[in-house]
Amino acid sequence: MDEVKKDELRREIPPEIVDRVKKLREEIEYHNYRYYVLDSPVISDAEYDALMRELKELEAKYPELITPDSPTQRVGFKPAEGFKEVPHQEPMLSLDDAMNEEEVREFDKRIKRFLNLPEDMPIEYTVEPKIDGVAVELVFENSLLTVASTRGDGYVGEDITNNIKTIKTIPLRLRKFDENTPDIPMRIDVRGEVYLNKDEFKRINEERIAKKEIPFANPRNAAAGSLRQLDPQITAKRRLDIFCYGIGYVEGYSFGTQWEILQTLPKWGLKVNPLVKLVSNIEEAISYHHQIEALRDSLPYEIDGVVIKVNDLSLWEKLGTKARSPRYAIAYKFLPTQTTTLLKDVVFQVGRTGAVTPVAILEPVKIGGVVVERATLHNEDFIKNLDIKIGDYVLVQRAGDVIPEIVMPIKERRTGQEKEIFFPRHCPICGTSLVKKPGEAIWRCPNKGCYAQGVRRLLHFASRNAMNIEGLGDKVAKELIDKELVQDPSDLYFLKVEDFMKLSGFAYKKAKNLWQAIQKSKKTTLGKFIYALGIRHVGEAMAQILAEKFKSLEKLKGATMADLISIPGVGEEVARSIVEFFKDKENERMIERLLSAGITFVEKEEEELPKILEGLSFVFTGALDNFTREEAKALVLKLGGKVSDTVTRNVSYIVVGKEPGSKYQKALAYGVKTLSEAEFLELLKEKGITLEKIKSIKGEKQEFSGPLFQK
Ligand code: NAD
Repeated sequence: MDEVKKDELRREIPPEIVDRVKKLREEIEYHNYRYYVLDSPVISDAEYDALMRELKELEAKYPELITPDSPTQRVGFKPAEGFKEVPHQEPMLSLDDAMNEEEVREFDKRIKRFLNLPEDMPIEYTVEPKIDGVAVELVFENSLLTVASTRGDGYVGEDITNNIKTIKTIPLRLRKFDENTPDIPMRIDVRGEVYLNKDEFKRINEERIAKKEIPFANPRNAAAGSLRQLDPQITAKRRLDIFCYGIGYVEGYSFGTQWEILQTLPKWGLKVNPLVKLVSNIEEAISYHHQIEALRDSLPYEIDGVVIKVNDLSLWEKLGTKARSPRYAIAYKFLPTQTTTLLKDVVFQVGRTGAVTPVAILEPVKIGGVVVERATLHNEDFIKNLDIKIGDYVLVQRAGDVIPEIVMPIKERRTGQEKEIFFPRHCPICGTSLVKKPGEAIWRCPNKGCYAQGVRRLLHFASRNAMNIEGLGDKVAKELIDKELVQDPSDLYFLKVEDFMKLSGFAYKKAKNLWQAIQKSKKTTLGKFIYALGIRHVGEAMAQILAEKFKSLEKLKGATMADLISIPGVGEEVARSIVEFFKDKENERMIERLLSAGITFVEKEEEELPKILEGLSFVFTGALDNFTREEAKALVLKLGGKVSDTVTRNVSYIVVGKEPGSKYQKALAYGVKTLSEAEFLELLKEKGITLEKIKSIKGEKQEFSGPLFQK
């Protein structure tokens, strides 16, 4: 377009649009610098993507506004100072993204339109997890790793050869691993993603927080920050890893498909992600996305979507590239797990064991489709080391079913009006001085008579997995303690129907029902009773182990530290907690009263449930969010289904949780139907067993419930 025409057109564009485009570009440039150069973003990726989308939309509407230096036309950022520059023989581009199935189908249609192919002709794609790390190029000449670089601005990257050499899984020399493998080309530029395992990321961040340094926002920034070091010794201390996913320039060999690349690289000694797959059409690519999303939380590394690439490389040439991305690939992203919001206040919640947890009250914000209003701030050290203040903008994270947590404050957004957070030295509920054991980060209220602890203890005692007293929820527990009807759980068994009629909303019938539920709870198992006592560190599974080991309460009471530590899974801390619990005079009195009220132990108690899973068999692999694997298996058995530990073609379903093992691969190979945990729950729901019901079958824990006790 000539300049005069451009000017004419520009005159028609509302000035506020021109201003907005300018503002967006400046903002995006600033965030690119923070992200790509400093590895320290001040907004979440989702917020950045929203800015980028807005700019793209405005540029699409007013193409005259597009300039070659617009961030929509460029990749990454130019190499940072201090690094030697490495030009890429073939540009390293970014990827367009799709947020939903429709956008993915549109990508498939676009390709067919571009190639003049019939709309109903299926295209083969490779589908690959999108590793959330940092893109690198490794140049191998005569099999030797000669240069390694970052993507930089797509054309020129930063020389990180010495840093890359500290990564043990990257070969310094390519080798042919079997006869049928093609010869190693004279030169091959391999592309891959350097990443950090989630555990290593956690370790690095904990170390930084303890040193009062700003933590990395996510494993991608941590990987980039670890790799882009001028001193390779620092890189060597971080356990970085790599997945290779493609090639740039090659001399001496010609690949026909992306699948061939993915199959060949490992044969030359390069790591490729084991979950990559070849699919025959776009619908299969979409279902791969769903399968991988179900695995997301369980994988030891972070992924933020899947990459869908046309398999046939001759089509890549025909499709070509745009300014910042190729036409033959798309990143089908997952829902974001982080965002930033305002920390409005901090309240302190007192738990059953007296632990005082700081909870952030946030300006409500949506993360991955869910509104988040509260997030844990962990403990006092976390607040102090990160220097978090009320009024700060904070990065909040919500992944899987984990309680939302504050990742860090965004100090760059401070106005000076922020207020210090004062951690209480007295229990916010009963006023008792809080105590903290040496080496521990948690402050606790030592007053066993503390109202908050009393209510929480009562709720725990009555919960489904403990004494299973139906009808004893938050409100009732609070009132029983408020009205001094109950001081410790044993009092429950000495109340009469008339006593319950003193509770608000309790007429005779309701009072009688609660009284009856309490009487019914007297018949329980030893494991449940031990769990109900609320001994610190003794969860459900531990209570069960103790019950099986000691077989009677008397024997457990008499156990010494040595007896307890000799049990597999019981450490010193747990053992001490048990011994101290039974030494305590008040606990002793409470147990005596409970037993005198007629509590008896049976071997097992079974609830009759509909056999809705009759004829179906299940294999579970990986950890689940709503159950332990044992609980899930027990549930299937109770519902009439079968469970197996090995995958055969006859298995009806494999339920895939976190860190699935080889069973998952085997199930895919056998064509066994896979279910994510959500799909498993959906299946049960269709058959009339809701999550509520499941919770009631397996019991529910309640530690971070709503605003029950806070100040
Ligand atoms: P991208 O990360 O969305 O996608 C391209 C990259 O995906 C490639 O360069 C490659 O490194 C990686 N990748 C992983 N697995 C792959 C595979 N199997 N095949 C091919 N590529 C694979 O694009 P980008 O240009 O690197 O970065 C843009 C992203 O960075 C955006 O999502 C944005 O949110 C984020 N960002 C955030 C900020 C911020 O301030 N928060 C600033 C700049 C960029």
